[in-house]
Amino acid sequence: MRSGISPREALTLILEHATPLGLETVALPDSQGRVLAEPVRSERFLPPADNSAMDGYAVVARDLAGASSERPITLPLAYEIPAGSQPPRPLKSGETARILTGAPVPEGADAVVRQEDTEASANEIAFHLDPPLGDNIRHMGEDVRAGDQVLSAGTKLGPAELGMLASLGRGFVAVHQRPRVAILSGGDELVEPDGDITGGRIVSSNSYSIAAQCRDVGCEPLYLGIARDTPGDIESRLRGGLAADVLVSSAGVSVGDRDYVRDVLEKLGCRLEFWGVKMKPGYPLAFGHFPESEGRGPLVFGLPGNPVSAVMTFEQFVRPALRKLTGHRRLHRPLLGVTLAETLKKKPGRLHFVRVILRREGEQVFAQSTGNQSSGVLRSLCEAQALLIFPAEASELLAGERATVQVLDESFLESDDPGF
Ligand code: AMP
Ligand code: MG
Repeated sequence: MRSGISPREALTLILEHATPLGLETVALPDSQGRVLAEPVRSERFLPPADNSAMDGYAVVARDLAGASSERPITLPLAYEIPAGSQPPRPLKSGETARILTGAPVPEGADAVVRQEDTEASANEIAFHLDPPLGDNIRHMGEDVRAGDQVLSAGTKLGPAELGMLASLGRGFVAVHQRPRVAILSGGDELVEPDGDITGGRIVSSNSYSIAAQCRDVGCEPLYLGIARDTPGDIESRLRGGLAADVLVSSAGVSVGDRDYVRDVLEKLGCRLEFWGVKMKPGYPLAFGHFPESEGRGPLVFGLPGNPVSAVMTFEQFVRPALRKLTGHRRLHRPLLGVTLAETLKKKPGRLHFVRVILRREGEQVFAQSTGNQSSGVLRSLCEAQALLIFPAEASELLAGERATVQVLDESFLESDDPGF
């Protein structure tokens, strides 16, 4: 097992072991937010036929050559085509047909004149303009042609994609399975939120933040509860998570007397790839997996116990792995170039993820530390919109310098102004 590796090396090792999960077929409404597992080709033309973009009259354009409001041209009304019906016969030169929006344009017609540009009387229609060829006609296949690949595998399905799949007649769609993530908290001091916090006890907040991070990325959390600091309790609870796709345990992976998680994992057959990543917060991170020979066991993450470290290591390592398992093409948060609003200092050696607040001023985005960066200050994570990357070997970033942040929350882009 390796120890004291860089965040980049850790991420590479983790992603090597994360392979996308298999497919499942779900009903179209249930596919929202899921990742498409197959390219989608159209077997149809959209629209399926030339159809009218307006309520009006189908005409042969050259019949109206020279028409204007001063010199209207009148044509007899031959028939009507409501939406959802077929024209009874082709349109002949010298006649017109009433047509409603979405109805198929009859053969022979090559323009539609809006109702507003006509005047109807008994069985005749007076036209007040000379329409350009093709006016107000939506052409067959102008949206999609049969044989087109419309969506590619790896696309996250949102409202536009669901509408498109519905139009293509797809009531069911193949998506990647949702990773199931077993979550274990460990420590004799931990209680559930309604528990008694006298006598040195604290609430197991990690169980909740980690489960929320899983849901945020479209995964299903399975809670294994709080293990007491005994190898037996840790082992029996971890066994409950071995059928999951990913197992995330927080605390008990450091070098304390009662940190049994690593030993128990190894006893269960988990091969630990590394322990310890040169980052702050979150050094004591362990990652392992089960050898292929023993069947596909879960990927295993032993996160640090401190609430901020647990969230941050999940963010940097578990989240990209979960996105890869889910079939996403891009695994990481959006990166943004920012200007530092203050000078930041640290000792060289570890990469720091600095919790920052973003402020937009015209074209520039400024990043300001949330203040106390201790790994226990959960409130700093509530305030932070981004994590500023303070490189391992750097010791100082000056106010006014440029830096890169990972954007966790795009709320700084939200506006009180509609922009129109
Ligand atoms: P440990 O890795 O067991 O030494 O834990 C490191 C720190 O994280 C200790 O202060 C623990 O009390 C705290 N901690 C461990 N697990 C949790 C949890 N589930 N929720 C909140 N804090 C925790
Ligand atoms: Mg502990």
